[in-house]
Amino acid sequence: MRSPIIAGNWKMNLLTDQAVALVEDLWELIADQDSVEVVVCPPFLDIPAVSGAIKRGNIKIGLAAQNMHWEESGAYTGEVSPTMLLESGVTHVIIGHSERRQFFGETDQGVNRKVRSALDHGLVPIMCVGETLKQREAGETENVVVSQVKCGLFEVDVARAAGMVIAYEPLWAIGTGKAATVEDAEVVVSLIRRTISETLDADVSDGIRIQYGGSVNPENISEFMAKPDIDGALVGGASLKAEDFSKIVRFS
Ligand code: PEP
Repeated sequence: MRSPIIAGNWKMNLLTDQAVALVEDLWELIADQDSVEVVVCPPFLDIPAVSGAIKRGNIKIGLAAQNMHWEESGAYTGEVSPTMLLESGVTHVIIGHSERRQFFGETDQGVNRKVRSALDHGLVPIMCVGETLKQREAGETENVVVSQVKCGLFEVDVARAAGMVIAYEPLWAIGTGKAATVEDAEVVVSLIRRTISETLDADVSDGIRIQYGGSVNPENISEFMAKPDIDGALVGGASLKAEDFSKIVRFS
């Protein structure tokens, strides 16, 4: 019922030529697949060129920003608005990535404003949640994740919410080469689905796609995708190599 979605978060990597070359290589490797929704998430300044490169191909690749402001315009130095993203061909937007929460002071309230704005503007939010190692070791994973999901979905338009994506990304698994076990990931992802059902409604929770993220690679992707509640992956490091990313897309 839910189609798989694999997104590659390039973070603050790749100059424009390198970004375009990566997308072009990726085309060659995944051109014959249409069962998985593939999304790339370049840095802001690469977006126009990547958008052009994507349009030249014959299969659809989604284009995500890694962040956005919730307002359309105004005195917000250094920020980028949803309408600016739409103008550049952006279709998805990562919201509340743990690196933004950790290094740039993003709060659950800010995440919620951004999620609501993205949905209002027809962008697909990929809302990230996940616990730190300290929180996991203290037995706080459930409380932390449930609270992040509830805050993130506060007063979200229920009809629009079905189109959004949530990424469960335990912080200790991001960029460490140490992925969560599939069993642990499935437990938290199922909890997220139950929380959506309680916060919004059961039909919406059946429709929202939930990704796992944290050291996903071509070797472990199939195990994650075999779990019924996991609908895809948010991939960091491995998305910077066309061959690795294409294998993740194919194995999912
Ligand atoms: C991420 O940046 O969201 C991520 C999951 O990174 P990595 O795949 O490198 O762990």
